[in-house]
Amino acid sequence: MNGQVSPTLSVVIPMKNEAPNVSPLFERLFPVLYGLSLPFEVICVDDGSTDQTFSRLTQQQERYPELCVISFARNFGQHAAVMAGFNQARGEWIITLDADLQNPPEEIPKLVAAFREGHDLVGTYRENRKDPYFRKLASDMVNRMTRKISGVSLKDFGCMLRGYTREITQQLVKEREYRIFIPALAALYAKNPVEIPVSHAPRVEGDSKYSFAKLISLQLDLMTSLSLAPLRLLFLMGSAIAILGISFGCLLIILRIILGPNWAAQGIFTLFAILFILIGGQFIAFGLLGEYIGRIFQEVRGHPVYVIKQILPACSSDDKPPEQAGAERSNPL
Ligand code: UDP
Ligand code: MG
Repeated sequence: MNGQVSPTLSVVIPMKNEAPNVSPLFERLFPVLYGLSLPFEVICVDDGSTDQTFSRLTQQQERYPELCVISFARNFGQHAAVMAGFNQARGEWIITLDADLQNPPEEIPKLVAAFREGHDLVGTYRENRKDPYFRKLASDMVNRMTRKISGVSLKDFGCMLRGYTREITQQLVKEREYRIFIPALAALYAKNPVEIPVSHAPRVEGDSKYSFAKLISLQLDLMTSLSLAPLRLLFLMGSAIAILGISFGCLLIILRIILGPNWAAQGIFTLFAILFILIGGQFIAFGLLGEYIGRIFQEVRGHPVYVIKQILPACSSDDKPPEQAGAERSNPL
């Protein structure tokens, strides 16, 4: 809104290498937003793109004065980009959206209607999700596991078309955590949440930015940022394995005495198998411990969650100069 009228709605869009999607997205998004007849702003966060995303965005600023562009110094990840958008947003209601048109902008009025009904967190779940089978299966498992471990009962943790009141985003930006998973964390702060169904479409241009390895890393973030349950599970697993090991050892000794030395030599492969299982279990345990320790390490180092290179003037806050805004936003969250 060019700093004139304070917007009621802020739309935050993280973008990494989404150049071909910029125009198609805006051609659908802005008419929907104008149709809402309320003051709004759109904040696009260029998360270290190596293609033309940034220049395509700035080219559009003349046409759309409501557009603000934040550019990161390098790639910090989707959730960091969303956090930077939250920090910049001035609206009472903040809606996040993917840039690849998988979340149809035409669904935004549904979220706004939910805000008007007094909900402070508007979650969504994807009906007829249009993603490869493997992604849907993986998401299903992740959703189930996360619900169990975190105690947060969201239907769909992965859908990023979501709405938050300013009160919630302010809580989120205060979180000092190094890597947080926004949808799940926000659910902990919400007083009157709701989940509504939204449609889903295949990606318009470009490829998904989530490789298998990145998805695993996201899942670890999600699990370890919300709960200590995996650590407790480790303890239980360790105890169970130890009890089993001791019992098995006793059994072997008894059988050795009863059946003689010949029998013992033949049991050697069973022993190997058991050994490998135990070693495997230990590695998993170390990995999980490492994940928690790694998080502590990152916190202690206090590195910033993201570093902003530039905020284009359209939405730099009215009350402080852009340089100051940028510096503040480089601080660790
Ligand atoms: N994204 C981002 N930084 C990243 C990865 C993704 O800003 O490091 C953005 C991406 O441009 C898109 C959104 O996050 O707008 C969702 O990414 P993507 O569509 O690749 O995820 P998927 O739909 O496959 O889960
Ligand atoms: Mg996508």
